[in-house]
Amino acid sequence: MTLKSIIQLLVAIALLAAAGVLVAKNLAKSSGTNSDGPPKEIHFQCATESCQAVFTVPFKDVRAYAENSEGSYPCPECGKHFTHEVYKCSNCDAALEPVGHGGFPEVCPSCGEAIRPPGA
Ligand SMILES: [Zn+2]
Ligand SMILES: [Zn+2]
Repeated sequence: MTLKSIIQLLVAIALLAAAGVLVAKNLAKSSGTNSDGPPKEIHFQCATESCQAVFTVPFKDVRAYAENSEGSYPCPECGKHFTHEVYKCSNCDAALEPVGHGGFPEVCPSCGEAIRPPGA
């Protein structure tokens, strides 16, 4: 084995070790209870006119789906991909369409109560 190939081997081992540390750090981060983290579950409403089902999916399932597929999360009722994310009123469970970019209405149009931000 030449000196050059030994150095290359050492560099490869160092890179692998660094990658392993990064993975371990990420695992530790995602398993911790982080109040600033993403919501634990996401509510969807089916946009198919005859269906309109509202359903809740654990965030990890949504993320796993997004990593492997394109398009909206499929509706469990009709199987179509015409779904969009909604918020659920903490008072009456009405599905609320987000306003603007990831925002939410301040007052529930269904029960008139003020809506708490998700996770607040
Ligand atoms: Zn549906
Ligand atoms: Zn409400």
